[in-house]
Amino acid sequence: MSKTFFDHQAYFSSQLDHLKEEGRYRVFAELERKAGDFPHARQHVNGEVRDVTIWCANDYLGMGQHPKVIDAICEAMRTYGTGAGGTRNISGTSHEHVLLEQELADLHGKESALLFTSGYVSNWAALGTLAGGIPDCVVLSDAGNHASMIEGIRHSRAERRIFKHNDLTDLERHLKEIPPERPKLIAFESVYSMDGDIGNIKGICDLADKYGAMTYLDEVHAVGMYGPRGGGIAEREGLMHRLTVIEATLGKAFGVVGGYIAASRELCDYIRSFASGFIFTTALPPAIAVGARVAVSHLKHSDMERQRQRRAVTKVRAALRAIGIPMLENESHIVPVMVGNAAKCKMISDVLVEKYGIYIQPINYPTVPKGTERLRITPSPFHTDEDIARLAHALSDLWNHCALSRAVA
Ligand SMILES: *Cc1c(COP(=O)(O)O)cnc(C)c1O
Repeated sequence: MSKTFFDHQAYFSSQLDHLKEEGRYRVFAELERKAGDFPHARQHVNGEVRDVTIWCANDYLGMGQHPKVIDAICEAMRTYGTGAGGTRNISGTSHEHVLLEQELADLHGKESALLFTSGYVSNWAALGTLAGGIPDCVVLSDAGNHASMIEGIRHSRAERRIFKHNDLTDLERHLKEIPPERPKLIAFESVYSMDGDIGNIKGICDLADKYGAMTYLDEVHAVGMYGPRGGGIAEREGLMHRLTVIEATLGKAFGVVGGYIAASRELCDYIRSFASGFIFTTALPPAIAVGARVAVSHLKHSDMERQRQRRAVTKVRAALRAIGIPMLENESHIVPVMVGNAAKCKMISDVLVEKYGIYIQPINYPTVPKGTERLRITPSPFHTDEDIARLAHALSDLWNHCALSRAVA
């Protein structure tokens, strides 16, 4: 008798076709970033190589090419070798991990910090363990939260209430409905990366105090960038001590890789002791910990990178405003250029790189809501006036070509 088995290959193909039909299939740009020449890079396309200027990196300050960071990592690799050699528990804890955790605790004015292999893992593991471990915990989650927070909360299986993005009235409405004695955790971000808007940290901390909730703040897009020592928006606003947990990455403004939380000694020890995503994975290479510590420490003392980055943002915004390219206004370092149509957004991105050597990845659904498709531009301290002029010129051409409307100045 012949049996009919499930055709898994056909299933994969049909799912991919479906993504392509919807215009949601992701195509990666294959780049060679060149240290010392950021934001310029080479791109490989079908066996050919072309020069491009990157306008969408999250290495916001160019710390990924900072000579101090590179030298420190190279030297540490020679000293310690490549990998950590184990999980933190089984021979993988290097003196350098401990030093970096101290540097990060100090950055956020907390007793302790705990490293993870990425920011994604830190959110997933810390939120999953907190909300899953504390009996009967309710998580109040901002509607704009990053996928890593959503997955962590989902993994915890705790009750989850989603409040309207950055809406204190809606948050309070939820808090009022939860009995005072029930444990609560409010999870939110400081700089939201797609719109570049900033969470109301003080307002949320006030509500947390009023209703006895813990607070969990993702400062991934703010560390290194804001505050006198690069401690993020909470540092800038003098609010770090009011947050239960501050979470961030070492892979964006700090230019390396890894994630962490900073919190009380007991909370970090609890996550260290119970989080599967911390315990059962090989520690970051010690040399990476060295590079991250050098980057964090450098940005505690040097404001030059932040100043130059801000100057570039101001110039880009001015250049695009002058020619009526519609941007989302915000008070952060992220410049969202609104296209509002998935096909046009992808097409503009393709032509930008093919014809002008300007690489900006299109941001489409589901990363942003349908109808708000955009080019997310991230100026760096290393984009020159000439780079900015070329960007404005190219966008102007394309806006004409695609018959997109311009903003009225
Ligand atoms: C990128 C990102 C993360 C994940 O950090 P990685 O270090 O890249 O894993 C977490 N939260 C937010 C808001 C992010 O944008």
